[in-house]
Amino acid sequence: MQTVTLNNGVEMPILGFGVYQIPPEQTEQAVTEALAAGYRLLDTAAAYGNEGAVGRAIKNSGIPREELFVTTKLWVQDAPAQDNTKRAFDKSMDKLGLDHLDLYLMHQPYGDVYSQWHAMQDLHREGRIRAIGVANFYPDRLVDLLLNNEVTPAVNQIETHPFFQRTADREVMREHGVQIQSWGGFAEGRNNLFTNPVLSDIGEKHGKSVAQVVLRWLVQRGVVAIPKSVRAERMAENIDIFDFELTDDQMARIATLDTGSSLFFDHRDPAMVSRLGQVRLND
Ligand code: NAP
Repeated sequence: MQTVTLNNGVEMPILGFGVYQIPPEQTEQAVTEALAAGYRLLDTAAAYGNEGAVGRAIKNSGIPREELFVTTKLWVQDAPAQDNTKRAFDKSMDKLGLDHLDLYLMHQPYGDVYSQWHAMQDLHREGRIRAIGVANFYPDRLVDLLLNNEVTPAVNQIETHPFFQRTADREVMREHGVQIQSWGGFAEGRNNLFTNPVLSDIGEKHGKSVAQVVLRWLVQRGVVAIPKSVRAERMAENIDIFDFELTDDQMARIATLDTGSSLFFDHRDPAMVSRLGQVRLND
């Protein structure tokens, strides 16, 4: 598996498996199948409610811990956020059954992000997490966070797909050494992504599916991708993208699909800040 090197030297697979919206009772089987298909990067979150199932699949796989790259995410914490972040991390680790984590992401740019980040820095310093990062940070908030803290986020996981390509945001991240990671790489199928004529035509030229073209396009731009599927045949399809290359012309054609805006919601929308920012996990 091709890797990217994060700003602290940690190697991260460029392609992994995401488990958002997989019900907990289906997650153990899905992760077991993903590991069998060759995925070694797993992306979950406290908010997904399936960390325990991810942990069981890891344990039962027998795959040596050092071969896996496990990401989970911190949900927004109440005050005192620094203490609560450490408690939330311990809970996630208990559920995952791990003694150290590869990547811990702040899931939302909401709440007392500085206190949350300070706690994440402590856990990183103590060796409990190999790399810390954020998700859903727009460049203004990201730059402010990294300029005012000791540790620069290693990763920013943001909505990135052919209809919302994040080219300027990616450039800001590159300047500051923050690795871009895509969530919703298929836009969850919105905007008829899987039958898009441009993507279909490019796929035909390579004997590849639209899904494979999209994932190849992401990794060719240096973006870490974490497609989700509950179907073993799609898991195999989605990891089979390292035997072809998109031409400059094909990359340019895909660039024309960018709409420059989210297909989900804008994390800067005050209504979302208020709604999502006040959600608390109660387990
Ligand atoms: P996604 O990967 O864009 O799309 C998943 C959808 O595509 C599912 O409906 C899946 O259906 C379908 N699919 C997968 N492979 C396919 C293929 N080869 N052909 C046709 N359809 C296919 O959506 P996502 O799950 O939202 O994003 C990926 C991961 O990013 C998540 O699982 C999660 O780990 C992470 N994420 C993070 C955030 C954040 O705020 N940080 C937000 C959203 C997601 P089946 O399952 O039926 O195959």
